[in-house]
Amino acid sequence: MANKDLPFAKAQLEEIIGQYPTPFHIYDEEAIRQNARKLLAAFSWAPQFKEYFAVKATPNPTILRILREEGIGADCSSLPELLLAEMAGITGEDIMFSSNDTPAEEFQKARKMGANINLDDISHIDYLEKHAGIPELISFRYNPGPLMKNGNTIIGYPEEAKYGLTKEQIFEAYRIVKEKGVKRFGIHTMVISNELNPDSFIATARMMFEMILEIHQKLGISMEFVNFGGGIGIPYKPEQQPVDLEYVGQGIKAVYEEIIVANGLHPLRISMECGRMITGPYGYLVAKVLHKKAIYKNYIGLDACMANLMRPALYGSYHHITVVGKEKLPLDHIYDVTGSLCENNDKFAIDRQLPVMDIGDIVVIHDAGAHGFAMGFNYNGKLRSAELLLKPSGKVELIRRSETIADYFATLDVAELKLNQAAAAVSENDN
Ligand SMILES: *Cc1c(COP(=O)(O)O)cnc(C)c1O
Repeated sequence: MANKDLPFAKAQLEEIIGQYPTPFHIYDEEAIRQNARKLLAAFSWAPQFKEYFAVKATPNPTILRILREEGIGADCSSLPELLLAEMAGITGEDIMFSSNDTPAEEFQKARKMGANINLDDISHIDYLEKHAGIPELISFRYNPGPLMKNGNTIIGYPEEAKYGLTKEQIFEAYRIVKEKGVKRFGIHTMVISNELNPDSFIATARMMFEMILEIHQKLGISMEFVNFGGGIGIPYKPEQQPVDLEYVGQGIKAVYEEIIVANGLHPLRISMECGRMITGPYGYLVAKVLHKKAIYKNYIGLDACMANLMRPALYGSYHHITVVGKEKLPLDHIYDVTGSLCENNDKFAIDRQLPVMDIGDIVVIHDAGAHGFAMGFNYNGKLRSAELLLKPSGKVELIRRSETIADYFATLDVAELKLNQAAAAVSENDN
């Protein structure tokens, strides 16, 4: 069973809401740190294990800085993500630049920062050379295609995925960059997403270690690192089990010894770029019940909407909901829990069994710490919420203020803005 307890008591949460109105995202710093340590401990056997946090999951420099303090780097795939990493003091080879369909200026910035550049296609060798120059260290993203049999619901079957190089291309790519003077080599893959079966990570490791051996045999290249990508799932549903990281670490160690050590390829640096499992369970979307309506179904309308957390609408994902202070009441009501967008899929839960809910109730939506705030958008003129950090001391820190209407209008044409300001002045006079 996954733990769905809250890291704050009702009175504490009410106090926080008194200072920062709902909706907001709040992250539990202590839990993020403990979890990061657990992942690193599971790979403490591996030579210089490195986790590069996938910035897209929670693109906030305060979170990145906390992770840096725990020894975690950054996986970036755009220029703003590179800048976020830089803001958090993460630079050089502590950055993995795993992008695709990449524009020239992003390669240039990644090169300038000395990041590990991970190419998504064989044609990107020439593109990189032309626009940013070939670095001393390079890695390629491998897409096993039909060679890997079991697909995954979010990423899909590898042969349907736009990412990476085919097996034939991989050999050709290393041959080309070796000729161009590359001295240090890495290899990357990302074939699973939100996976809870620990054996699939061990299977991915085996696939990659076998590739590394084959590349060594065919091209005489000694791989410096392997990056297994992200994809460690989290138990969104209370009945699900978190991935046993110790089991995964030990399972990969056994395969490492069997393939890497036995063939004289040790030491090989092992790395990952998990996002979801690092912050996902330790972030909460806090909202209040704004309206209740009873038509053909019973609806609870929150002051948050899918602009704050898109996963339920996008993937039909389950996110656990706690009605604060009603944890002990029977789950004898069935509600659709909605937001206010003019989109019927703007629902956090459909036909969910919950305690009786009332206007003003505080609602906590769990597991919103990754791919939550980050996927926010402004549809229907909805503004992005604040992000708060619950410190180990129990204090709360604002780590991103909520958007204002002025932020929303900031990109408009100047003439339109002036009209708008005039309109605002008129309505002020009316009052
Ligand atoms: C999204 C992504 C990750 C992180 O995935 P999680 O499911 O959050 O662990 C890592 N690497 C790449 C290339 C990605 O696109």
